[in-house]
Amino acid sequence: MIPPIANRFVAGESPATALEHVRQLNERDVSAIVNLLGEHYDEHDPVAADAAEYRRLVSDIANSGLEAAISVKPSQLGLDLGEDVFRAELTEVVDAAADRGVFVWIDMEDHTTTDATLDAFEAMARRHGSGVGICVQANLRRTRADVRRLADVPGKVRFVKGAYDPPSDVAYSDSDRIDEEYRKLLEYAFEHYDGGIGVGSHDPAMIEFAKALHDWYGTDFEIQMLMGVREDAQYELAAEYDVWQYVPYGDRWKSYFYRRVTERTDNLKFALRAVLSG
Ligand code: FAD
Repeated sequence: MIPPIANRFVAGESPATALEHVRQLNERDVSAIVNLLGEHYDEHDPVAADAAEYRRLVSDIANSGLEAAISVKPSQLGLDLGEDVFRAELTEVVDAAADRGVFVWIDMEDHTTTDATLDAFEAMARRHGSGVGICVQANLRRTRADVRRLADVPGKVRFVKGAYDPPSDVAYSDSDRIDEEYRKLLEYAFEHYDGGIGVGSHDPAMIEFAKALHDWYGTDFEIQMLMGVREDAQYELAAEYDVWQYVPYGDRWKSYFYRRVTERTDNLKFALRAVLSG
């Protein structure tokens, strides 16, 4: 069972609890991006099991009529076992989702996986048009070039600052520099993309910047935030903008929860309060 301390960030252990959370979000005009927690498998069994669960999940989403997409991690679908394994599993999930009209996001993991992830995304996007999306990380030095490459590829692009800690030869570590990159990437996308821009940030400054770019260029975008983070802002923004909440579920919640509590002092304080209050 997920302890109360992690409940704020994770929508239970089963697809049913996750979809119930999505139903409540939809009632407040927020859509959902559902992620089954799992990463870095070094055996094929858990890869096949998660891929099968995603295929069932897209059916459940389509049958329920909920406003929801899914998001998968490359190392969850076998990237650590080889690019061919990842491509084969991803293709089955994306084909099943396309059949049921459910959108598939591909999360971006650490910098050693960027090429394989972008290549797999591009192959899926060329096969299925606009039903897939990829995430790019503003902290990586290469991302400006990747974002230019993606201008000619169908599908959506989610812009994030980057949750991993890459070495300095491939990434910026200074937060002001990462913010500057984030703004530059957004500006390029709003100017050159036909839409399909996902602003994956809780940062009020980045959200304001995206709104201003939208007013200037008229390009469509969506705001994406995580479950448990600035939820009041998500509901407020949903009155005017397209807002999607990333909703993780499943019993492998520990490493995800650890990332959330260590990336921000407020989250850490929240976790400590939950522990101290029993
Ligand atoms: P930060 O730079 O962390 O904070 C800037 C400001 O935002 C803060 O000063 C504060 O005003 C506000 N803020 C931030 N967090 C909080 C909070 N908890 N409470 C209140 N205010 C807050 N990373 C990847 O590497 N790969 C992915 O595939 C990926 N997918 C993501 C999907 C979504 C939908 C989101 C929202 C993030 C994703 N990330 C991913 C994580 C991302 O890279 C960042 O690590 C994370 O979002 C923190 O950066 P930030 O832009 O939200 O704000």
